[in-house]
Amino acid sequence: MRPFEYVRVDNTSSLADLTAITSNAKFMAGGTNLLDLMKEDVERPARVVDISGLPLKQIQRIHSGLSLGALATNTETANHPLVRENYPLLTQAILAGASGQLRNMATNGGNLLQRTRCNYFYDTAMPCNKRDPGSGCGAREGLNKIHAIFGWSESCVATYPGDMANALHALNAIVRLREPNGGERQVPIADFHRLPGETPEQDTNLRQGELIVAIELPVSAAAFSGHSYYLKVRDRASYAFAMVAVAAALDIDGDTIRQARVVLGSVAHMPWRAVETEAILVGQRLDPALFQRASLAAFQNARPLKHNAYKVELGQRAVARALMRAAHFA
Ligand SMILES: Cc1cc2nc3c(=O)[nH]c(=O)nc-3n(C[C@H](O)[C@H](O)[C@H](O)COP(=O)(O)OP(=O)(O)OC[C@H]3O[C@@H](n4cnc5c(N)ncnc54)[C@H](O)[C@@H]3O)c2cc1C
Ligand code: SF4
Repeated sequence: MRPFEYVRVDNTSSLADLTAITSNAKFMAGGTNLLDLMKEDVERPARVVDISGLPLKQIQRIHSGLSLGALATNTETANHPLVRENYPLLTQAILAGASGQLRNMATNGGNLLQRTRCNYFYDTAMPCNKRDPGSGCGAREGLNKIHAIFGWSESCVATYPGDMANALHALNAIVRLREPNGGERQVPIADFHRLPGETPEQDTNLRQGELIVAIELPVSAAAFSGHSYYLKVRDRASYAFAMVAVAAALDIDGDTIRQARVVLGSVAHMPWRAVETEAILVGQRLDPALFQRASLAAFQNARPLKHNAYKVELGQRAVARALMRAAHFA
């Protein structure tokens, strides 16, 4: 590991100076991703700003819904009674991730900003445009079993690997940010992560020095609470990232689908909303045949790479199954 300066802060007013001084500073929350990457020499911050002491741990009702503090742990968030009751999809998604020990350390903000699990990104002997812009992409013609089938570019075919963000997309969450000058801005979760394009080194639309303060869930998303399901397909039952994940949520009136949200995980550089599937579902009566048809539509524009065509059929089956579970048919 390279030498770096370590600074601990316990109030947000001291943050501006600390992060603005160097553009190569990184916040550290639970440290479960950042420290691994520093040990592998992938991340090389000159300064680590430990924010774990900031008062950003509250999970509380707000007029527009529920606010999840950026520093609340994944365990606290998944198990909070208001989350379990109103947004069970989020509880399921978080509990599908990592392991109990990791979730006890991992925070909501850090979870959103976890980096890809592309093997070439971790291997500093290999080219990787995300780690070292301009060096090439080892995965494009290499082993790309775990990589993207949607939205990739010639510069990068990596996926965003997290689970929590897939549910947050389905639930229309808002990310609240504190700017380095002390101002605040809000970003809809759909605009938070990004596709790689020509600048895969940028995972998100977060600007240098911005701090995630909270994630907000709207009251309206509680309409999905009775009919949602998070399905994660992986190589082993725990402690593994998804090959394909599906966050499915239905708002049902009688036996008719009023609204539908279907978000796919581990298929693109960001959570991938299956808008074609949603369009087929809305206004229709609950029906297993409908779910089958809608699941095929989700992958009609997929662009698999050499080693990951399996994600298409696996994904179709996963979408159909998640919808069946959300509708309580299975
Ligand atoms: C073995 C293993 C298995 C895992 N399996 C899964 C899995 O199946 N599913 C899954 O979703 N995740 C999984 N993870 C990832 C895990 O969920 C993340 O490592 C964790 O959520 C990161 O949170 P953290 O608080 O530790 O972040 P940190 O490591 O502290 O930070 C991560 C990044 O976020 C930035 N950051 C943190 N907080 C803020 C903030 N408030 N504002 C601005 N920037 C911030 C940091 O600068 C850093 O760049 C796994 C991790 C490991 C090690
Ligand atoms: S897919 Fe992206 S992260 Fe992986 S080697 Fe290529 S540029 Fe790097």
